[in-house]
Amino acid sequence: MTNLFDLSGRVALVTGANTGIGQGLAVALAEAGADVALVGRSAADETAALVRAAGRRAQLIGADLSTIEPVQAVVDRTLDALGGLDILVNNAGIIRRADALDFSEADWDAVIDTNLKSLFFLCQAAGRHMVGQGKGKIINIASMLSFQGGVRVPSYTASKSGVAGLTRLLANEWAAKGVNVNAIAPGYIATNNTAALQADETRNRQILERIPTGRWGSPSDLGGAAVFLASSASDYVNGHILAVDGGWLAR
Ligand code: NAP
Repeated sequence: MTNLFDLSGRVALVTGANTGIGQGLAVALAEAGADVALVGRSAADETAALVRAAGRRAQLIGADLSTIEPVQAVVDRTLDALGGLDILVNNAGIIRRADALDFSEADWDAVIDTNLKSLFFLCQAAGRHMVGQGKGKIINIASMLSFQGGVRVPSYTASKSGVAGLTRLLANEWAAKGVNVNAIAPGYIATNNTAALQADETRNRQILERIPTGRWGSPSDLGGAAVFLASSASDYVNGHILAVDGGWLAR
């Protein structure tokens, strides 16, 4: 029987792949058969070793996605080095915390530029290639704050709500051209991004009390959703924001 989840022969590009969720997703895609371009500002040597240990090719591509300047080169280098581009995972992201009354323009711009602007233009650059070849899979990393307001993270909430909207818009434009655009909305995942929350005893307890599974997620908890959205198994799934949250949104 055909394995609908097999990614053999596909090339994936994952941003922010040196650590956390990006590393987990890159490894999951490699274990399902994909070669992976590991894109980011910190070298993803550890992730490359894990991808190669899974028997797949890894290509390191240095890029600072706080501006859109490197976006086209990132796509071109992936095509040159790995011979194709079938799957884009827009994972790189940052967060800045401050009361809305005090929030600075610098913290607004930094988060919007990385989480939303670079994400859109990377979708555009990859999308031109994917629409041209008549197939492709784009997975944007959204958040619980694509659905909820949050507190003290205005630019993050704006960016991740924007990611959900853009995912739907791009799905509308490209679904008929063979390109699936979807998002994964992780719940509370133990990474550098959430280290401050995990270390805050009160917030940690409040978070755990609300998660039906009663635990933080790990990057590997997101791998199945990524393989699904990257594979033929999701060919009729378009513009969906898939929460992988241990039940958080069900509460
Ligand atoms: P993380 O451990 O802090 O990883 C963030 C990744 O993004 C790192 O690889 C980082 O590279 C990269 N990055 C940040 N700014 C960049 C830039 N200017 N150029 C290139 N790469 C850049 O956080 P994470 O938790 O894995 O987060 C990954 C994604 O999941 C983010 O979009 C985040 O918003 C989202 N998310 C996380 C959670 C969670 O609970 N952890 C929940 C919902 C959504 P450096 O190491 O070089 O900084």
